[in-house]
This record gives sequence, C-alpha cells and structure tokens, in this order.
Amino acid sequence: MPFSSLGLSPRLVTALSALDFQKPYPIQEKVIPEVLMGKDVLGIAQTGSGKTASYVLPVLSLLEKKETKRNRAIEALVVVPTRELAQQVQEVISHFASFLEPRLKSMAVYGGVSINPQMKALMGVRVLVATPGRLLELVEANALTLSEVQILVLDEADKMLNLGFKEEMDKIIALLPSKRQNLLFSATLAEDVQSITSLILKDPIFVKVEAEKENLDLISQTGYFVSEERKGPLLRYLIKHNDMQQVLVFTSSVYQTENVAEKLRKNGIQANCIHSKKSQEARTKALKSFKEGHMRVLVATDLIARGIDIQFLPFVINYELPRSPKDYIHRIGRTGRAENPGEAISLITPDEQQHFRVIQKKMKKWVTMVDSESIDLRGF
Ligand code: ADP
Ligand code: MG
Repeated sequence: MPFSSLGLSPRLVTALSALDFQKPYPIQEKVIPEVLMGKDVLGIAQTGSGKTASYVLPVLSLLEKKETKRNRAIEALVVVPTRELAQQVQEVISHFASFLEPRLKSMAVYGGVSINPQMKALMGVRVLVATPGRLLELVEANALTLSEVQILVLDEADKMLNLGFKEEMDKIIALLPSKRQNLLFSATLAEDVQSITSLILKDPIFVKVEAEKENLDLISQTGYFVSEERKGPLLRYLIKHNDMQQVLVFTSSVYQTENVAEKLRKNGIQANCIHSKKSQEARTKALKSFKEGHMRVLVATDLIARGIDIQFLPFVINYELPRSPKDYIHRIGRTGRAENPGEAISLITPDEQQHFRVIQKKMKKWVTMVDSESIDLRGF
C-alpha cells in the first residue's frame, strides 16, 4: 500500500518522496489511519522500524486542517526522555512541517541550555517536543500553556512512564485537558502494561508489529568471553582488525566512557565520548559529528541508547553490559535500522556471564559466543 492511500495530507505525501520514503513501513501502515481517525494508540514495534513518522505524519495532517493561532497554547505535545532525542524528533517534524502551507511551527525544548531564547521562540508553536523537566519549567514561567493540548505523544513510552520520570509525568498529565488523543510508542513494553494503558489511554488501539524472521536477523549478535584486563586490547583489536569505520561503544558509567575513549585515542583510534556530565554544547557536537561520519568511535552511556537514529550505523559494541535487559535491546537497536543490517558485539567478563544469560533469556534469542582467549592481543 502506498503512502498516498493512508489518508494523509497530499503535501505530506510530497514531503515523503522528497525523503525517499518509498512505501510505509508496517507500523506506519497500521498506525497512521488509526491516528487520523482520532483513536488512542499504543504502538509497539522494534527499534529502527519507523515509529517516529508513524505519529509525526498523522499528527501534522490533523493539525493542518485546523486554524493557525498566534498564542502560546501547544496543540500537540511530544514528550521524550533525552535532549538528543528531542532534537532528533524535532528535525523530523520540522522537515515535514516545512511542506505544509502555511508552514506549521514546531520546536524542541530541553534542559542544559538557556531558557530565555526558548521562552521567546514559543510564540505560535503548535507542535512541541520536550523533555519533562524543561517543559515544566516553561509552564511555570508562563512561557506556554498545556491546557489546549489535543494530542499527547509519549515516545519511548515505557521509559517515560517509568519510576524515574513518574513525578514529572504526573504533573504534566495533570496540566493537560482530560479530553485528548494519546499516542504511546516504544520497542519495549513496561512490565506492567495495564498500568500504562489505564493511566493514559482511553479505549486504545493496540498495534504490535512483530519482527519478521528476516528482520530479526538484521542485527547479528556476537558475544566475546574475555577477562577484565583484556577488554581494552580486545576492543581495539576488534575495531582495527574488522576495520570498523563507524562504531558506537556503550559503557556503563561516565568514568568508563571517558576512560575508554581516552585509551582509544592513545592507541591512534579517533574517538569521542558522550555522557550526562558533558555540557549540552559538547553533547550535541559529539553526536552530530558521529552521525555525520566525522568521528570513528563514539563511546557513550545509556544516554543515547534510546531512540537515536544514526543512518547506516554498522557496529555497536557493548564494552560493558547494561543493567536492564531492555536497555540491551535499545543499545543494539542503534544498528540494524531502516531495513539495513548491523552487527552488535558484547564483551563479556566472567562476572557478566550470568547477567548476559538473563538478557538473552528476556530477549528470547541466544547470542553466538566466541572465546577470545586464543586471540593474540599483543600490540593492541
Ligand atoms: P524507531 O523510532 O522505530 O526506532 P525511526 O522512526 O527512528 O525508528 O526510523 C528509523 C529510520 O528509518 C529513520 O532513519 C527513518 O528516516 C527511516 N524510515 C522511517 N520510515 C521509513 C520509510 N517508510 N521508508 C524508508 N525509511 C524510513
Ligand atoms: Mg523512535
């Protein structure tokens, strides 16, 4: 089925061909008509399967039909867990919105940068992408109002409704009108799905797109048994030996992120890192240069495990495992996106073996294991 038969605004269909989206992905085909009909949707589909456009397109289509207002009342609100994801979703929205006439104003707001320019720019914004903390600050400062929101989107919904965001999300939801459309998306579900649906959604349409067999294999996964001391050399061996030119390496702490990047640089491998203790300017720059292919290795914490889309990223390496099995799914999901193949490698010390088994069990997939003992790491 082509995009033009989903009921979207013809201007958006034009915008799609400009992006070279030739046909809707399964989640888009299922979700777009439901959103256009005003339904609440819980959309679950694997990482990299096109969930963003599945809400951005119908939301813009719905708003196009309504009159533009010049005030500070947001009409569609997209809440996301990180600043980087807010920036990325806003780029998608602004691409599509630029094809509408009149052009529909959208914006991303997030913390770590000064609030004043955001306050000024909010006039006339109809679609807002936000991280929770800054959103509440802006409400507090009367820079915007949420009382006229017609559509609420929670991207990475399980994360947004998790304990870590609960207090802020409760406040945000209390500021919204009770009659509104709710759209929730994620690749992973919260343990307690019922609590999400009953809290937020009204008679939702539950759309779940299962990975097809070949999709499942888009990401080939390998684990290397390795001792703690040999981890650094093995990482450098893997990068050099496989001539990896763009690789995202995950560690579990800010300290390790800096440490691993530093050691890579000392060994002549171009690397940068990204984590929560860096300035927002440095974070934005690091991710941008990596996305554009100017940086060979980006070492990161789980800060960018969710939602971040790096076109054709071929490799993800887990230098350390994440605590949560869900985060493992999101981390490796930075590769194998948009129907392209990818490779995910995990370095597993004896201490991590049991945890890696738990992760695989939750993922319902067994990973090929390699013993790195016999690899000659001298010189790495
Ligand atoms: P998800 O949110 O499900 O992880 P994204 O929405 O970030 O995935 O989309 C992943 C990638 O797929 C993006 O680079 C996006 O531009 C691309 N994409 C989305 N829909 C299509 C489509 N219909 N045709 C081609 N590429 C698409
Ligand atoms: Mg996404």
